[in-house]
Parts: sequence; C-alpha cells; structure tokens
Amino acid sequence: MREIIFATKNKGKIKEINEIMRDTGIMVISMEEAGIDIDIVEDGETFEENAIKKAVAIMKISGKIALSDDSGLVVDYLGGAPGIYSARFGGEGATDADKNEKVLSLLQGVPHKERTARFVCVTGAAFPDGTTITTKGTLEGLIAEAPIGNQGFGYDPIFFIPEYDRTVAQMDAAIKNQISHRGKALRRMKEELQQIKEKKE
Ligand code: IMP
Repeated sequence: MREIIFATKNKGKIKEINEIMRDTGIMVISMEEAGIDIDIVEDGETFEENAIKKAVAIMKISGKIALSDDSGLVVDYLGGAPGIYSARFGGEGATDADKNEKVLSLLQGVPHKERTARFVCVTGAAFPDGTTITTKGTLEGLIAEAPIGNQGFGYDPIFFIPEYDRTVAQMDAAIKNQISHRGKALRRMKEELQQIKEKKE
C-alpha cells in the first residue's frame, strides 16, 4: 500500500478521498497523521497555483508524493468572486451564514438567468522528482434567493441545482459526492495517479 499525504487538516476530505481511492492500493493520510503541522499561506492568484503550492510544500517536507485541493464558489454576476477568496469572503471571523448573506445581498434583485455560478475544485499532486499535475472539477448551478437546507457546509444552502430542483444543502452526502466539483476532480486525479503508476511498473 503506497502512502500519499493530503495537504489538509480536514478529516472529512481524507475520508472522501480514501473512499474514491479504495481500489487503487493508495492510502491517503492527513498532515496530522504524517506528523506535519505547518500553515501554508494560500497567496496564489488561481485555484491551480494554490493547489500546487500546498502540494509542493508538503512534498518538500515529507519527501513523499503529496496531494492537495483548492476550491471555491465562482459567481458570474460578481466577475468570478468570491473565487479563491471563498473561505475568507466577509472578512476574519465571518461565519458560513454571514458569507451566504453577503453573496445574496450582492445579488439582490438580479434575475434568475443572471444568477449562474459554479463550485470549482482543483486538486494538485507534487512528486519527489519535482513534477506536478493538477485536475479540475466543476459543479454548475444558480445562486438561490435565500438559504435553504441544512446539510453540507459553506455555500451549499444558497447553491441551487436546477436538475435536482434543490440546493446542495438539501442533498444527501452520497449524491453530493457523485456530482460535486471535489468528487470529479479527485476521480480525475485518481485516473492520473493510476496511469503514472502503470507507466512506472
Ligand atoms: P478550501 O478549498 O478548503 O480552502 O475551501 C474553500 C471555500 O470554498 C470553503 O471554505 C467554502 O466556503 C467554499 N466551498 C468549497 N467547496 C464547497 C462545497 O462543496 N460546498 C460549499 N462551499 C464550498
């Protein structure tokens, strides 16, 4: 079993990625499990730059393959905001509810068809030989008029998916994982890692 470190302190992400990697012979462990405790400043200008930065930092410390992800909400009417600033939108100490309110107030009165948005996730991998790769996944939707639902996290209550006629916060975790930006990006990363493994064998 090959161990890969995921540049995150979030146990939920480790669980999700290990479910996806189940049949690959790859075991993903958290920074904590690897004994690494550093804060990586996410000062890139794109999801890709941030993901690579996190993976490279952990690869350099551990000497092992490292994975990372960077994600956020992209709202077309707001020129792509909050984007890479999704976690910090609304300033220090803003709760998820505060961030959702901020998006809703910026879109007040904006008609349905102009409320298009997407969740974006970019995963990064950094290898000890210095090479890096990224994969991307998106989930398209609309910003709702008000928050609905209490599952999930972050912007899920205001992210409405027309095909499902509900917000992501009204979805079971299993369905969200099947369609989510993070699920898509991670499954693409799984394919990339399997191909690299096959080439080396
Ligand atoms: P990070 O990639 O862990 O830095 O997360 C970025 C931010 O994007 C999170 O704090 C959330 O605010 C938002 N975000 C990313 N993915 C999701 C999602 O699946 N649902 C709701 N919000 C999300």
